[in-house]
Amino acid sequence: MTLHITEEAPSPIVVRRRPTRLWRPRRVLVTPAALDHAHGRQIVARAEDLGLPVERLKSNRLTGLRDENPRRAYTQAKSTLAVVTAPPTKLKLQPIPPSADWRFDLAEGCPAHCQYCYLAGSLSGPPVTRVYANLDAILGNLENYLGQGGVTSASQTRAAEGTTFEASCYTDPLGIEHLTGSLSAAIRYFGAWEAPVQLRFTTKFAALEPLLGLPHRGRTRVRFSVNAAAAAHYEGGTAPLADRLAAMGALAGAGYPIGLTIAPILPVEDWREAYDALLRDAAEALADVREPDLTVELITHRFTPGSKTVLEGWYPGSDLPMREAERTRKLTKFGSVKYVFPGDLMKTMRAHLTERIAVRLPTARILYWT
Ligand code: SF4
Repeated sequence: MTLHITEEAPSPIVVRRRPTRLWRPRRVLVTPAALDHAHGRQIVARAEDLGLPVERLKSNRLTGLRDENPRRAYTQAKSTLAVVTAPPTKLKLQPIPPSADWRFDLAEGCPAHCQYCYLAGSLSGPPVTRVYANLDAILGNLENYLGQGGVTSASQTRAAEGTTFEASCYTDPLGIEHLTGSLSAAIRYFGAWEAPVQLRFTTKFAALEPLLGLPHRGRTRVRFSVNAAAAAHYEGGTAPLADRLAAMGALAGAGYPIGLTIAPILPVEDWREAYDALLRDAAEALADVREPDLTVELITHRFTPGSKTVLEGWYPGSDLPMREAERTRKLTKFGSVKYVFPGDLMKTMRAHLTERIAVRLPTARILYWT
């Protein structure tokens, strides 16, 4: 399999990684509206270059994706890529605390199989990966939000980041980049934008080659979503942890601001040692990088009644602990219920991780614990 080659000179950085396994959807659906956009046609061309079967739909609606059997519906949807146009509602951006001032979407859905996937609580219907062809409109819309942020821009410690835009709320943009090129386009867009802005995304993938030579100008923070090694079996279809950390080191060497999103934090067996080992490995991955601009985001595991139902349908044999009796019930600011770890456990885990980060990654900035 070949990777998309960027036009810029290749980076001098040698990336110590195994060959990357890239997602090959079994079906690629494309709507007529998507084909009206040059970016949509480019995605189709990429898919055809990779030998993927492309179905040109007669209407702009995706149909035939539902199945009475939730497991079968899940399997079919997870192996389907749909090239569509983002609806107008996607151009009305929402704040996304505590990560960023605004959230915008290059795609919706992800081909991986994480048993604690946060998308289970936010997406409806079969989890098809929809990628957006009207990229020019999506990126061109962002300037309407410049200087208007109320999340990081309103924070004393983070205002220097400029207006922040988060691109991984509904997808993992690096996991599908070999098929879309959308993330590279967004990184270039922010690099050329003469304003105090930051593009942010987090990923459980490691196919960083398209990103290495891009003119990012330090305006994109790439965060790697990582967890204790004992949680690896929950993350089917993602890149191995060692590859993610090696990719982080390579991107830091290429001048990108980087980050660790440690999520979802779980009290796995010997969790103190397990998370310390993760931080040790992260420090090792950055050992050759002088003064990396590194942040850490700490997100504990939580679930809602809705996300639990969806995940139990997708992963019926999972041993992911989601017993309400072992959790504290909380109301979100929208009045819905979520289950988090009890306060004492939260405090203990927070104190330990904060202390180990100070030891292992002394220059890192912790952005939040939630
Ligand atoms: S990589 Fe992220 S978005 Fe994709 S399945 Fe895993 S948790 Fe969900």
